[in-house]
Amino acid sequence: MRFAYSTASTTVLVGLALAAVGCEAQGRQGGRGGRDVREPTIPPPTIVEYRPRSTLVVPEHQVPRAKFPVVDFHGHPPNLASPENIRTVVEAMDRLNLQVMVQAQPSSGERLTSQIEAVRAAGHADRFVFFASLDLREVGPGSGARIAAQLEADVRAGAVGVGEIMKGFGLSITKADGTRLRMDDPELDVVWETAARLGIPVFVHTGDPAEFFQPLDYQNERWLEMALFPDRRFNDRSRYPAFDDLMAERDRMIERHPNTTWVLAHMGWHTQDLARLGAIFDRNQNVLAELGAVLYDLGRQPRFAREFFVRYSDRILFGKDSFAPDEYPYYWRVFETADEYFDYYRDYHAFWKLYGMDLPDDVLRKVYYANALRIIPRMPTAGFPTP
Ligand SMILES: [Zn+2]
Repeated sequence: MRFAYSTASTTVLVGLALAAVGCEAQGRQGGRGGRDVREPTIPPPTIVEYRPRSTLVVPEHQVPRAKFPVVDFHGHPPNLASPENIRTVVEAMDRLNLQVMVQAQPSSGERLTSQIEAVRAAGHADRFVFFASLDLREVGPGSGARIAAQLEADVRAGAVGVGEIMKGFGLSITKADGTRLRMDDPELDVVWETAARLGIPVFVHTGDPAEFFQPLDYQNERWLEMALFPDRRFNDRSRYPAFDDLMAERDRMIERHPNTTWVLAHMGWHTQDLARLGAIFDRNQNVLAELGAVLYDLGRQPRFAREFFVRYSDRILFGKDSFAPDEYPYYWRVFETADEYFDYYRDYHAFWKLYGMDLPDDVLRKVYYANALRIIPRMPTAGFPTP
């Protein structure tokens, strides 16, 4: 029963205030994460069933084609030794305004040279550049020199970078003696120094989102993805290092090689804590970051991410990771518009909507192509605006 005050409006206000106090008190006691303890009167949907449609009406700006030509620093196109694959990929690149794609799919030796030759023969040498992979299995005494020699041969054959070094490095790859190969293993020093001497960037993917290393409980914001993909659970400390220990290993490797240009894939998996990545940038002038597959984090913090991109505009590279032409326009829309509350393309990454960062043109140009042109040697310059 409400209090019998003199006017109707006062009665309503007092009633609402009491209801609010009541909810908070119940939430604190109820132990349901601070939510109302009232139970649904019909069976609730499961996490995969509930798909509310947004009723929000706001201005929308679809961006099918990037505003400036783009270098995709993190390409995983199908094998480019096939003329058919080359044609399919170039057609998609033309539509999206992707001028150059880095082939970051692990390839070395014959697998690398066959693709370089096929792309040349197809007349598309100005649309692809190739990075070389490293064979990091069974590392033991002398392995560093062997890996460095293969890298030199691959660079002579046309490779212009190292990578993508996949996440097994640090997580699961073992040495010849059966122990985990640590990222800062001194046996590999010669490899990173060789990359520095050759003037090529080292593109390294370390770990995965921090939540994948946490308990799989109902507070984990990646619960669905971890439930869908058992191989993305790294929370068993008897098998995998902790997220922070792994990143500390990576940071020691970077700091020991200040003349090597390091590019952290997926922005080092620090997009949920951009200041942490900023501190790495501040400590190491030789580090850049590539932004593939973390759009869900950038698009949920459009103001802070914008500030970060403006401040570190010389250190961030566009990359997409998986080759799915329909997904690139989500990136253009987040970077180029100020649109609000729009859908993301992969529901198990994020239970939230995206917002546009409305980046200034000079930042877009650096992130889209200028930084890549600066750090990758022998980059084709056709199709890019002259500075
Ligand atoms: Zn990748």
